[in-house]
Amino acid sequence: MENSTTTAVAPDAEDDIAPIDLPKQGIDPQRLPLPEATQPLKILWQYVIVLTVIHVMALLAFLPYMFTWSGVILGVLGHFTFGMLGITIGYHRLLTHRGFTCPKWLEHTLAVFGMCNLQDSPARWVAIHRMHHQHSDHQPDPHSPLASFLWGHVGWVVCRHRDLDRTSHYERYVRDLLRDPFYLRLERKEGWFFVFLAHAMLITAVGAVFGYAISGGLISEAIRYSYSWFVWAVAVRTVFVLHGTWTVNSLSHVFGYRNYETRDNSRNNWLVALISHGEGWHNNHHAQPRSAAHGHRWYEFDMSWRVIQFLEMIGLAKDVVRPKANTTEG
Ligand SMILES: [Zn+2]
Ligand SMILES: [Zn+2]
Repeated sequence: MENSTTTAVAPDAEDDIAPIDLPKQGIDPQRLPLPEATQPLKILWQYVIVLTVIHVMALLAFLPYMFTWSGVILGVLGHFTFGMLGITIGYHRLLTHRGFTCPKWLEHTLAVFGMCNLQDSPARWVAIHRMHHQHSDHQPDPHSPLASFLWGHVGWVVCRHRDLDRTSHYERYVRDLLRDPFYLRLERKEGWFFVFLAHAMLITAVGAVFGYAISGGLISEAIRYSYSWFVWAVAVRTVFVLHGTWTVNSLSHVFGYRNYETRDNSRNNWLVALISHGEGWHNNHHAQPRSAAHGHRWYEFDMSWRVIQFLEMIGLAKDVVRPKANTTEG
């Protein structure tokens, strides 16, 4: 394990993702077209197939045969481990916005957890999200729901976006991240997807061993538990985390209240905050993107922020960026 800490985001990277000069007014839900770089629309069939398969697998949870308490409990724990630690805290607040720093081993661990949610590699996720912050709800925001709600939720995931495949795009948005060979390697040969597969296989295999052990050596129970753990702790959890992230992009740019007059249509949405560990306080987040806390008012509970505070308390998180106190009431 290395003891070095991550360096704060390089100033040049920070400059590149600063919001560009866009009009504050004039957001017209009827007029925002799909991003130019997605025209003509081309479906990414590999994404459609993988996402369809994981949704169908998740639906198998309705079969009584698939139910085990251990599977359900692992699904809930996985929502915290992979969803919150991996996506919300790892991909988003740490890697995208550098809301805090931590030892490299912890940063990489959080990134590995993030890859277990079928949400692409860390560099691609971060590049897309930084682009979203720079252009939010204006062209060429990759996933504004003002183009269409379905587009903002999932359409953008399954359609080709030419800019996102360009090296220049990566150089512009994630130069800081790709200086680390760990992230660079993951870009090659879909390395992140194999991390997902490996974790799914591991959970399934441990499920089989667990079923075999608690049934006193029944093969049929070993098989049932391996299915159950796959369905609940991998498929259901992954689908839940996917829609949690997607609702931040869709619902939190359409429904909810605003504490801040930001230049986009971002909203604070309690339902999204609940299912995505605090990410639903999205208007706060667009107003102060680097703040590691997204809940700015006392009643805006932000589970991820509590965890970051805990990491800070035990000395694992440093340089924690807090909301600017004088503007918290917008
Ligand atoms: Zn947003
Ligand atoms: Zn963000």
